[in-house]
This record gives sequence, structure tokens and C-alpha cells, in this order.
Amino acid sequence: MRTDTEGLILMDRVVGDKDRCLVILTKDCGVKNCFVRRANKPNSRNFSATQPLSYSRFSIFEGRQYCVVEEAVLIRTFFGSAEDLVRLSLANYFCELVMKTVPENTESSQVLELLLNSLHLLEKNSQPERIKTIFEIRLAVISGWMPQLLYCSGCGAYEDETMYFYYQENTLRCIKCHSEGLCCPLSKGALTAFRYVLCAEPKKIFSFRTAEDSLRQLGVCTEKYITAMTAAHLYTLDYYHQVVQLEKDTAGTETAE
Ligand SMILES: [Zn+2]
Repeated sequence: MRTDTEGLILMDRVVGDKDRCLVILTKDCGVKNCFVRRANKPNSRNFSATQPLSYSRFSIFEGRQYCVVEEAVLIRTFFGSAEDLVRLSLANYFCELVMKTVPENTESSQVLELLLNSLHLLEKNSQPERIKTIFEIRLAVISGWMPQLLYCSGCGAYEDETMYFYYQENTLRCIKCHSEGLCCPLSKGALTAFRYVLCAEPKKIFSFRTAEDSLRQLGVCTEKYITAMTAAHLYTLDYYHQVVQLEKDTAGTETAE
């Protein structure tokens, strides 16, 4: 069977001398593992269209045991030239999250659109933390892990000075009903932003304003939630935090000088 679809390369690895194995988020059939023959050399026909973070049109032959990319035509590439490491590591984290959440053989145009838009903004935007938070929330929603934020699960209160999101139980509680357990505090601003990103139309998810403190608080919460939902250790997330820390340390050293 042959499938024609568009997709983004999430990861690749070399197999033998000449071949590579690609992990592709496709528009029509979820995350697919595909071989690509003789595409390990820069002068090969499919080379640029099959690099990580390339968005391409694919003709895929689906055999009984494995899939083979027969042809790939590049549409656009992300982070093609030297870029800053924080944003590149975040792009890789997005890819790993998608690999952990999107199954094979499912229609996945919503995730693909979210990933393409997020990478596009990440390339030029100076607020990677904000894009990360929005990506985590929307990926959770698309994956069927809708955060329950409507009201306090104890008393039904809609808001409070601080609300607490129990990220493993997926429940919200006010100050009065708050008890021991793994949870993240959310200020009014953080909760409002959370609710907005949850429910906004796809085109409007990136357009909201909130204070830096609220955004930081929300970011801690969404990272814990998506990590709890995927129940996986995300190595790209560890790497991202290391890179951010390194950048902070370097900036601190330069200031001290
Ligand atoms: Zn309550």
C-alpha cells in the first residue's frame, strides 16, 4: 500500500552505511517509523527533506513489516542554520512529547498544526517559556487529557486568590479545600491564562497577556501535568533545563565581570 502525506521529522538515526530510520509525525496516519534508503549522504535525492525538523511531503510504501519513504519533497525546514541552544532543545522536547503521545495510524492534523505553529514562533520569538507552556496545554487537550479547571472540586468555587491544581489527580481546589498532595499553586492571573489557552480557537492560543510571575507559575504547573500524563521520563526536557541553567549561569558570570 502506498500513502501520500505531509509530515514533520521528529527524529532520525543511521542504519548501516547508507540508510536511515525516521520518526515522522504525519498529517494522516499519526507517528510513523519509516526507513529511507541511501539518504545518508548530502548529495542524495531525499537528503534535505528527511533531516530532523524538516517538514516535507512524503510518498510512503507500507510493507507488512516496515514502511519505506520512497520519495520526499521538502516544504520547509526549522532551525536549519545555527540557532540558539535553548530554542533548539525546546524544539526537540516538543518532538519527544509528540512521540510519547500520538499513536500510529490516527488522523493527526491538529497535533501537526500545533507543532508547526509552535516551531514557527519558536524560531523567531524571544519567549520560549511561553510557547512551551501553550504547547503543553494544547497537546494535553488534543490527547484527551483535558485539565479540569472549571471549579474547585471540593466546594464548587470558580476562583480564589490562589487555587491549587493537583496535576496527578487532574483536579482543582480552592484555599479552603486545599490539602496535602502533589499540587501547584495558581494565582488568579495564571488560572485565567490556563483557562484561556484551554478553550481558545487554535489561531488565538498564542495571543494572551499575563504577568511574568503568573506565566512562570503556569509553566511549572503545565510541565508537571504533561509529564504526569505521559508517565514517561523525557530526556529532552532534562537537557532543556540544563541548557537554560547554563545560560543563566553564563549571564550571571558576565554580569559579575
Ligand atoms: Zn473549595
